[in-house]
Amino acid sequence: MSDEFPLVIIGAGAGGVSAAEAAREAGFTGRMLLLTHEDRLPYKRTKISKSLVERPERDAFALHDAEWYASNEITLMTERRASFIDTERAVVRLVDGTEVRYRSLILAVGAEAIDPLDDANLSVPVHFPYDFASVERLTKEIRAREESGGAVRVGILGGGVVALELLDQFSKMGVRATLMTRSGRLMGRELDDHAHDLLFRSLEQNDVEIYRGVRLNYASSRHDRIRLSFHDSSRDYFDVLVAAGGSTPRISLARDSGLHVDTGVLVNSALQTNDERIFACGDCSEHPEGRITHLWRDAVRQGCVAGGNAVRLLHGQELEPYRYIPFRLKCEVFGHYYYSIGEPEPKSMYHAGFEKHVFVDSVRYVAAFTIANELSGVVMVDDRDREEEYTTAVVERWTLDRFREQLQLRSDRRGS
Ligand SMILES: Cc1cc2nc3c(=O)[nH]c(=O)nc-3n(C[C@H](O)[C@H](O)[C@H](O)COP(=O)(O)OP(=O)(O)OC[C@H]3O[C@@H](n4cnc5c(N)ncnc54)[C@H](O)[C@@H]3O)c2cc1C
Repeated sequence: MSDEFPLVIIGAGAGGVSAAEAAREAGFTGRMLLLTHEDRLPYKRTKISKSLVERPERDAFALHDAEWYASNEITLMTERRASFIDTERAVVRLVDGTEVRYRSLILAVGAEAIDPLDDANLSVPVHFPYDFASVERLTKEIRAREESGGAVRVGILGGGVVALELLDQFSKMGVRATLMTRSGRLMGRELDDHAHDLLFRSLEQNDVEIYRGVRLNYASSRHDRIRLSFHDSSRDYFDVLVAAGGSTPRISLARDSGLHVDTGVLVNSALQTNDERIFACGDCSEHPEGRITHLWRDAVRQGCVAGGNAVRLLHGQELEPYRYIPFRLKCEVFGHYYYSIGEPEPKSMYHAGFEKHVFVDSVRYVAAFTIANELSGVVMVDDRDREEEYTTAVVERWTLDRFREQLQLRSDRRGS
């Protein structure tokens, strides 16, 4: 079977849905296909690790209801996976053998979980909580074990935002969980040393068990429990194992279809791949300067540019460049608020003219990173109400004096 949709979007997350919206806004009136291999209406992925305790309904986080897709004449196909792009014939092949012809194509296939157990010898089931259905299965298993009596102990592998949010949720559910990180650092990409220490202390105060610097060697099932053996010969037992050790761009479809990839799908400044009819946006894409983002709002913004450019291409118009602006990442766990934007250390330390300025008082912690006296990044703890101001300051690259005055930050301990 072969059908034609002038615009096909593979992936219906942040990038894919915003690309569809942008294409309609740019005046595209033709048939549009939006594909996802997930089993429900496209939803806000960022919510799934923050809401286990609330037992959300299946479509609780839907970006739009089904009527929205119908009224915008967007054909949404769920539980359909693209397996190959025949770039010569301009055809997408789905796993079930269906072929769809396109004139312009957008890849918005996101990222996939890194398996932190890759080099461990494993024969046990592991949860990868990166989509809604997986989080539902995880919660269901925990509840089922609780209902059949006995305490449940969960092991979480990872030290990033998703791992921490799950830890927070398990604590709220009254489930005992242990965080295990290989690097020893929590939110290592986002927090400086002091913010990391504040986070770590808060976890300790909440009696959270953390194993830092662990290397998993072997995992096996034993009497309905999971036995983990570590490189230092120690062992521990869990009922449920969760792998939340980060994600990497999903490149296999592009690579197997002959598109250029490195860590991500390579795009130019207009988000075009090496095939001019095919664009890539969001977590799957790697930009000319090597940047790969993992943030919802950035994926939305890239989707807007890719959707608009796909239409411009179809209309024979000049394409618009995607211009990067920094987006923040926040993590709210155990009653504290951790925020990071731009290039905090250690990344910013490699720039000439780098300086760090620290502002601490009884309520909040702020570290401002400057390059040639312009803000390049901020790490903040517990000043949630002013997060928009911190974001504006970094996006607009305020001077340190302006930043200090407008946010009324006083106790600068430079470079500490
Ligand atoms: C648990 C979790 C919590 C997060 N929390 C935050 C947060 O707090 N803040 C933040 O900024 N970011 C957060 N992120 C990251 C954020 O969700 C992503 O940056 C964003 O979703 C990326 O959008 P995307 O469109 O590139 O990919 P996704 O939103 O991941 O969408 C990818 C889509 O591609 C589809 N797909 C993939 N392969 C195929 C195929 N072969 N055929 C058909 N469909 C396919 C999938 O079904 C899915 O619809 C979180 C991510 C996770 C997993």
